[in-house]
Amino acid sequence: MRPSILFPLFAETRTLPGVGPKIAKLIGRAAGTRLLDLIFHLPSGIIDRSYRPKLIAAEEGRILTAEVNVLDHIAPRDRRQPYKVRCSDDTAMIELVFFHAHADYLSKQLPIGQKRVISGRAERFNGNLQMPHPDFIVTLEEAATLPQQEAIYRLSEGLPSKSMLKAARAAVEKVPDMPEWLDPAFKKARGWTSFLEAMEAAHNPSSEEELARHSPARMRLAYDELLANQLALVLIRNAMRGIKGRSISGTGELRAKAIAALPFKMTDTQKQALSEIGADMEAPTRMLRLLQGDVGAGKTIVAFLALLSVVEAGMQGALMAPTEILARQHMASLEALARAAGIRMALLTGRERAARDAVLRDLADGKIDILVGTHAIFQEDVAFRDLGLAVVDEQHRFGVHQRMTLQGKGHRPVDVLVMTATPIPRTLALTAYGDMDVSRLTGRPPGRKPVETRLISAERVDEVVEHLRRAIAKGARAYWVCPLVEESELVDLTAAEDRAKALREMLGPAVGLVHGRMKGPERDAEMAKLKRGETKVLVATTVIEVGVDVPEATIMVVEHAERFGLAQLHQLRGRVGRGEAKSSCLLVYSPPLGETAKERLKTLRETDDGFVIAERDLELRGAGELLGTRQSGLPEFRMADLTAHAELLAAARDDAKLILSKDPELKSPRGEALRVLLYLFERDEAVRYLRTG
Ligand code: ADP
Ligand code: MG
Repeated sequence: MRPSILFPLFAETRTLPGVGPKIAKLIGRAAGTRLLDLIFHLPSGIIDRSYRPKLIAAEEGRILTAEVNVLDHIAPRDRRQPYKVRCSDDTAMIELVFFHAHADYLSKQLPIGQKRVISGRAERFNGNLQMPHPDFIVTLEEAATLPQQEAIYRLSEGLPSKSMLKAARAAVEKVPDMPEWLDPAFKKARGWTSFLEAMEAAHNPSSEEELARHSPARMRLAYDELLANQLALVLIRNAMRGIKGRSISGTGELRAKAIAALPFKMTDTQKQALSEIGADMEAPTRMLRLLQGDVGAGKTIVAFLALLSVVEAGMQGALMAPTEILARQHMASLEALARAAGIRMALLTGRERAARDAVLRDLADGKIDILVGTHAIFQEDVAFRDLGLAVVDEQHRFGVHQRMTLQGKGHRPVDVLVMTATPIPRTLALTAYGDMDVSRLTGRPPGRKPVETRLISAERVDEVVEHLRRAIAKGARAYWVCPLVEESELVDLTAAEDRAKALREMLGPAVGLVHGRMKGPERDAEMAKLKRGETKVLVATTVIEVGVDVPEATIMVVEHAERFGLAQLHQLRGRVGRGEAKSSCLLVYSPPLGETAKERLKTLRETDDGFVIAERDLELRGAGELLGTRQSGLPEFRMADLTAHAELLAAARDDAKLILSKDPELKSPRGEALRVLLYLFERDEAVRYLRTG
């Protein structure tokens, strides 16, 4: 249960003074709905109020602070006009301008004949110096307390910066003084303060330096977040491995049959990965291994052979794909091998309603050796007779949570192999997978030819279409991927529909369309048409990013390539170059292209090594944006920035391991404090493992 010391931070922001339902909603959009979200929403800039010119010299557009005499009030003749208060210093006049003003309030704030200090953005209107809605109006005595610098926060539309500032301040005031969870020597060596002090400092930066990612306060907070993340991962991992696994060793008999039926030879890295997996399964501890490799690197066959050895040992295996289409594709591509090996394989997705009962029965009876499916495998009523190995083909779509659910499917501990086509940079792999063991399928995927990659300005899109026309005439197939607009699937769809229509007008009717709103079967049908050659060009939203293999496709056109992440582009490009013919990838961008965008697209032209691309992507974009973390299953950090704080991540990881080796139950005083940390960063799930494990 959440420690009571944290209760105030889990309160809703609308409980704060000055935060009504409307402001709470806007804050919710910018930061989140709870105080916790507010305090983690660190300032993104500062307002400097040190500019104090004589009014005659005031530059417009700047934040200005001045001591003025209040001359007179000019009430508007109707409500649409602003209320004005004229003031001056000894050099010039300034008009304070208020829309929807309350006259009595203003006459109290700005009494005629008195001195006030005002601060806000100065503007010029019809040649007059004005300040609409000053940020501050204070007396000379109060002016001493006027902040020279003030935090700016990322806002949502309609949210006044002042409301945000006030709410953030109020939230920070509610931060309790918590027990210290950092190692005292480490904290001292780093020159860090307590969490509370760091939080206060981070929200009250007095210089750009203090706002920087490497300021002590920000470092401390980032470290706390990373430590919580690493601690949680080590806890979960220990809990899973702590329970004795089973030593699974196959006879090699089925595997030999399948290998004999393969139309190709296994590569060295495939063999290497397979032997690493084999060693893990034989070990008495539970396997938790990540198999990384580009799309098409040949992970599936590695997984299948691993599954076969489980069947040889008299158990069952599961292979789970992130989408219906992929589950079916796995099923189709493995069927011949399964037949060659003489094992029974079945498919379970959300769509197999009719056959579902029979599949479940056979699964429970052990008549099915390998179950291939989607997340439908997670459902409560799916019971194996004896599940030995679960392979999760993640394709970067599943989160940690789902991996855990699958853990519970075996009567006894299940070995887990996670396959990912996202070449995750090492730093990121650490945050998402802790120190799961990793096998990597490196090098160019078997049989792949380099894909020629070109950047083309959208102004020359006609040439792209011309190129397509000629290529199609010679029998080529092409993908045409349309802009990604994350907020709205509908907009994506319109763009794709328009493009398909335009291409049909120019190239004839053999232009298909797939998009995210299509039902699985419709989508499959469209892909199949391309494969059969009934359509020559397939216009798509990014649904083809995951999935289906059409070796005949040799051209990939990506419109608005600058809007895609590098990793995504890399994956899209991976859709072509699978067959014998020479392939090309045309990245169509809309000029002008920013420096970063240029760098990114250039990287793609220079390399096709997914791991290199992923590292570059991380450098150029920062972890938050990478892959679109939300759907990737990678954790989102609110205060840590993996590009700037990579060194902290490594330290947090070592720290987490050391802590748990000394105090596995987190029972020492520091352990108790660390529990608070885990709850503070909402790693409740990890704490649960503490109690059961
Ligand atoms: P992914 O890593 O994306 O899952 P797949 O396992 O689907 O890749 O493999 C892509 C293609 O490469 C498949 O058609 C597969 O049969 C083929 N393949 C796998 N291993 C080899 C190999 N060693 N030599 C040649 N082709 C291979
Ligand atoms: Mg695959």
